[in-house]
Amino acid sequence: MEGTIKEHIKTFTEELGEHIDLVAVSKTKPNQDLMEAYEAGQRIFGENKVQEMTDKWEALPKDIQWHMVGHVQTNKVKYMAPYVDLIHAVHKLKLLKEINKRAKENDRVINCLLQVKIAEEDSKYGMSPDELRAFLKDEKLSELKNVKLKGLMAMATFTEDEDQIHREFQVLQDLYEETSKTQADFSILSIGMSGDYKIAMQHGTNMVRIGSSIFGARH
Ligand SMILES: *Cc1c(COP(=O)(O)O)cnc(C)c1O
Repeated sequence: MEGTIKEHIKTFTEELGEHIDLVAVSKTKPNQDLMEAYEAGQRIFGENKVQEMTDKWEALPKDIQWHMVGHVQTNKVKYMAPYVDLIHAVHKLKLLKEINKRAKENDRVINCLLQVKIAEEDSKYGMSPDELRAFLKDEKLSELKNVKLKGLMAMATFTEDEDQIHREFQVLQDLYEETSKTQADFSILSIGMSGDYKIAMQHGTNMVRIGSSIFGARH
């Protein structure tokens, strides 16, 4: 891939504009790569493993906002609760309750997104649109004072078929508009990765998660 990490950050920042946040997904990459992005002004970094994110949080500047973008195991929540800024992939109440409990222990409110399954692949986690609607009506939610539901996240099918990606993102865009009417704290729609962020930009994304197009391929 041509260009330096610094140049990639600059190009993405310009292309996305001020209304779309860039999460630089730095999983598997060494701290020096993250620092190169940091020096170009990047402050939001995304990781998908709690241990790796915690190691990086300990080593790197404290004004970085750490986003957990991957699937979270309930028993790992406690390790990131002291510092995580946004958890993207909450897919069940049991996990949200654990995040609430650990946030409370740390005297914090932790921001979360609900992951919706829009892809046709079985391998992806997330709630179906109907499960999401039911989830948001659950009265137990209002008891969870130490989490804040900020919006929705999804991953499209990994495919060359752009029409399919458009269809999947459209489902999420509609669902986000619908659920935002009753969810006062909703302000984030997290869709778009290196391969499909341009399509996500046509479906109302305001937070893209870009890894390989910034840092190069992962091995
Ligand atoms: C790895 C990852 C990304 C970034 O993927 P790229 O294709 O490298 O941009 C985005 N979102 C999630 C949930 C990821 O796990």
